[in-house]
Order: sequence, then structure tokens, then C-alpha cells
Amino acid sequence: MLVEESSINNMEEVENTTSVMEQIVDGWKNYIFRNPTTEEMGRERLKKCLTCEWRSKISNRCKMCGCFIPTAVRSTPKKCPINKW
Ligand code: SF4
Repeated sequence: MLVEESSINNMEEVENTTSVMEQIVDGWKNYIFRNPTTEEMGRERLKKCLTCEWRSKISNRCKMCGCFIPTAVRSTPKKCPINKW
């Protein structure tokens, strides 16, 4: 029983980690290889980040999720942690 519960917890951790990794990789991919679709999406999201109280002006990171904003706004699967976008 304990082994089964442990396996389920480990699987959930792997899925969450994979999801976060996919978001990060997608954001960096779209940051390096820019295309009109993700640039438009990024511009709309960035407008909200630039006026958000959770953006660090020093590091240009989101203080809620820790993401680097120029890549986070270009990540298609990424969502704002407080649902602003
Ligand atoms: S991702 Fe969301 S919470 Fe973070 S700075 Fe942007 S708008 Fe604010």
C-alpha cells in the first residue's frame, strides 16, 4: 500500500515537473526563434505584467512564480499564477 501511494505521488511530481519544464522550454524557444503569433501573444501579456504589482523591476521576474517575464509571456502553455492572462 505504501509503495503504491509513493508511486502515485512520484508520478504526480514527474507530471508537474514536466509541465513546468515544457512551459520554460517553450518560452525560451519562442524568445530565441520569434514568430508573429507568439510575439502578439507576448505583447498582450506583457502589457499586464508591466503594470502588475508582482513584477520585479530589478530582475524583470514575476515574484509569484519566479519566471523571467520576457520568456514567460512567450510561453504558450504558461498561465499567469493569478490569472491576469
Ligand atoms: S505573470 Fe501574472 S502575476 Fe506575474 S507579473 Fe505577470 S501579470 Fe503579474
